[in-house]
Amino acid sequence: MTDALASSPMVRFAPSPTGRLHVGNIRTALFNWLFAHRPGGAPGRFLLRLDDTDRERSREEFAEAIREDLSWLGLDWDLEARQSERVAAYEAAVERLKAAGRLYPCYETAEELEAKRRRQRARRLPPIYDRAALRLDASERRRLEAEGRKPHWRFLLANTDGDPREGAAIRPTPVVWEDLVRGRQEVDLGSVSDPVLVRADGSWLYTLPSVVDDIDFAITHVIRGEDHVTNTAVQIQLFEALGARPPVFAHHNLLVGPDGEALSKRLGALTVAALREEGLEPLAVASYAATVGSSEAVRPFSSLDAMAEMFDFAKLSRAPARFDVEELRALNARLLHATPFEAVADRLAARGITGGKAFWEAVRPNLARFDEVDDWQAVVSGPVTPVIEDAAFSARAAALLPPEPWDEGTWRAWTDRIKAETGARGRALFHPLRLALTGRERGPELRALLPLIGRDRAKARLEGRTA
Ligand code: GLU
Repeated sequence: MTDALASSPMVRFAPSPTGRLHVGNIRTALFNWLFAHRPGGAPGRFLLRLDDTDRERSREEFAEAIREDLSWLGLDWDLEARQSERVAAYEAAVERLKAAGRLYPCYETAEELEAKRRRQRARRLPPIYDRAALRLDASERRRLEAEGRKPHWRFLLANTDGDPREGAAIRPTPVVWEDLVRGRQEVDLGSVSDPVLVRADGSWLYTLPSVVDDIDFAITHVIRGEDHVTNTAVQIQLFEALGARPPVFAHHNLLVGPDGEALSKRLGALTVAALREEGLEPLAVASYAATVGSSEAVRPFSSLDAMAEMFDFAKLSRAPARFDVEELRALNARLLHATPFEAVADRLAARGITGGKAFWEAVRPNLARFDEVDDWQAVVSGPVTPVIEDAAFSARAAALLPPEPWDEGTWRAWTDRIKAETGARGRALFHPLRLALTGRERGPELRALLPLIGRDRAKARLEGRTA
């Protein structure tokens, strides 16, 4: 057993409650959950972290919707945290970084920074922040503040040999990590600006609260979308500056829409809520999310635990994965076709469906969505207005109905007799019977449906009466 399996992982899913979750987001949540539940390892723990430092855009209704969506998918979490309640921890980290000389105040306006970048580009230099503010002395800072300027704060990257305050030159600084999805990653922090961690209005950029939380909650594995890869090298240095060992990282591929565009929270049709309202099964959505964009065939799983057995970061593709709602719908149907009665007995009972296992097994192959059971229940128990193409033929078939009790062999015995007596065969035999018995062109196998319909209703329908 490797080290990673022997120790108990702690993972987190960290959405901002500023919108509804979409299928892309829930892949991140699912991968975290599957990793925490991977078989053969010490059981993991899963933190739901609400990144709600943006007070303007964060809303309680979105936080509640996130919990609802995760619960619907069966992705339960062991603990919950909200960044808005952890302000003291972020302030303490800010003080610590300041005291260590790793956070320094800068006074440039956005326009001044843009002018610097233009000059750098004109001289064919990379547009990296020149650390001018690092060399301000106390009196210069006081003068700038007297002008009414409020500082924003940059994290001083460790990318020089000597003291950058004394002008030590920046050198190539590869930061390397072994990504569970992408393999060895290397980012040069010698060609990146010192990132702003605290804005002039005192609010934090996402990196600082995220790293502080990852440290305080002892996160062992950060599993998130590859849109965060570029943040990771900076975060690794921030972990180290705060005296912590960085976690293991896994950056999964992203889902894209039909035209290759990024899925955004604004694409209403792809929200988890919309899929739920459409009547798709949570297990179908999770099965799709777990397999799309991986080397595994897109297929239904009977449980999240079965998915955890199969799941491995190494199977994820490095290319973006295309989300195709039709493929998800087809998967939903395949899942229903394979679902045993025991797994849906309560849901059938809650809808007032009484036919039990025989009913479920009869109609299951015809379902694209679970709620279609209601239609087939109506076909079984009526009233159904029959479609009679040839009244004499139907009446003859009615007269040949055997006495009850009926079972799955009844259909064969009955239709053999009709065939023998009328000479009808193939479609000419079966199609009028289906239309008379169900009022529909297509449907479940009549062999299974006939005993559920029962003799009284079957006879009435064959005789042209609504029953
Ligand atoms: N709130 C961040 C996001 O949704 C979290 C990123 C992370 O997992 O570190 O993008």
